[in-house]
Amino acid sequence: MNKLIMIKYGELTTKKANRKVFINLLENNIKNILKGLEYKISKDRVRMYITSNDDTMDKILEKLKKVFGIHSIVVAEKVNTNIEEIKTKSLEILKGNYKTFKVNTKRADKKFEIHSMEFNNIIGGFILKNTDLKVDVHNPDVILNIEIRVEGTFIYTNEIKGLGGYPVGIQGKGLLMLSGGIDSPVAGYLSLKRGVDLECLYFESPPHTSIEAKQKVIKLASIINEYSGNIKVNIVPFTKIQEEIYKNCPDSYIITIMRRMMYRIAEEVVKRKKLKVIINGESIGQVASQTLTSMTVINNVTSLPIIRPVACMDKLEIIDIANNIGTYETSILPYEDCCTIFLPKHPVINPSLEKAIKYENSFDYEKLIEECVNNIEIITNLNEEKYEEYL
Ligand code: ATP
Ligand code: MG
Repeated sequence: MNKLIMIKYGELTTKKANRKVFINLLENNIKNILKGLEYKISKDRVRMYITSNDDTMDKILEKLKKVFGIHSIVVAEKVNTNIEEIKTKSLEILKGNYKTFKVNTKRADKKFEIHSMEFNNIIGGFILKNTDLKVDVHNPDVILNIEIRVEGTFIYTNEIKGLGGYPVGIQGKGLLMLSGGIDSPVAGYLSLKRGVDLECLYFESPPHTSIEAKQKVIKLASIINEYSGNIKVNIVPFTKIQEEIYKNCPDSYIITIMRRMMYRIAEEVVKRKKLKVIINGESIGQVASQTLTSMTVINNVTSLPIIRPVACMDKLEIIDIANNIGTYETSILPYEDCCTIFLPKHPVINPSLEKAIKYENSFDYEKLIEECVNNIEIITNLNEEKYEEYL
C-alpha cells in the first residue's frame, strides 16, 4: 500500500512543553473516532500517518475532518527516495489533470544530497518535458508537494484543511446544558474546539414535554459527539420542580427561578462527576432571562465558572455555525422544551435577587433537587445503533 493519510498537527505544535501530551491525546482521539474501521496508525514529532485500503481511506478522511487539533490532512503517495521513482510518481499524479503547476520540495532528510530548489527544477523540468503542463509559480492549478524524509518520500497535491483547535479533552470535561434549541449545540461544539470534552445535561418535564423533545436532544448530542466520541447525556426529571415553581411563585419570576434551579442541579452534577465547568448556550440579550441583570441573578446560585461560548454572537452567526456542524435542521424541529411550556406573558427582565430568593424559599427545593440528581437517566454510546433505540 503506497497511499497514506498524513496528518499535520498545527496549533498544538506551538505548545512546546506539553507537545507529547497533546500528540498522544490527539492519537487517542483519532483512534476513538475511527473505532470499528481497519487501519494502521503511526506518528512522529510533526506528523501522524494512517494506512488502510482505498474504501476505508475515504471513510477515515470524512471522520478526520471532525477531529480537533488537526491542522491539515493530505493523502500522499509514498515512494522510495530515489529520483526515478519520484519522477514517475509525480508524472502519474499530474499528467492529464491540470494546466499549470509548481513543485514544492521539502528536504527534511538532510542526508539527501540535492537541495530543495535544485530538486524543484529537476522534477519541474521532467514534467515540462513529458506533458503539456506549464509552470506558474504565482497561481498554479496545482502544487506538487514533495517531502523527502528519512523513512521515504511523500508526494501529494491537495491539502484538506483540518478543524484546528485543541485535542478534545486536553482541558478536561465540562457539563453542557443542552436543550433542543439552536444555541446550546453550537456552544458545545465551540467548547470541544478549545479542548473541553463534554457531558450533556438535559432537563425534561414529562408529560409537559414530549418524548420527541427528548429524542431531539439525544440526536443533537449524537451530532456533536462526532467531534468527541465520549459524550454522554444526563437526563434530569425536572417535572416536580417545575410544577412547584408554577404553584408557588409569581408568573413573572417563573423563568428566573426555574433557571436558578437548573444551575443548582448542574452544579451538583459537576461536583458529583468531578467535571470542571458549566457550559451553556446563553447569548446576551436574546431573551428576558439573558439580560445582564437576569444572568447575574441566575448565576448567583453557583460559584462554578460558567462558559458561554455564544454569549457575544448574533443569532445569525450562531445559525451559520449550526448549519456548518449539521445541528440546525434538528434544532428547528418544533418540539416544546421545558423553557417554552407555560411561558409567562411578561417575564421579568430586571429581576431582583432578594425577590427571587424570597419566592423560591416558599417550597422545599433542596429536597427536590436531591431527588432530581439521584434519578438522572444516563445515555451513553451515542453512536448510530444505540441512538436508534431512542427514536
Ligand atoms: P434557542 O436556540 O431557541 O435560543 P436555547 O436552547 O438557547 O434555544 P434558551 O431559552 O435561550 O434556549 O436557553 C438558554 C440556555 O439554557 C440554552 O442554550 C441551554 O444551554 C440552557 N437550557 C435551556 N433549556 C434547557 C433544557 N431543557 N435542558 C438543558 N439546558 C437548557
Ligand atoms: Mg438561546
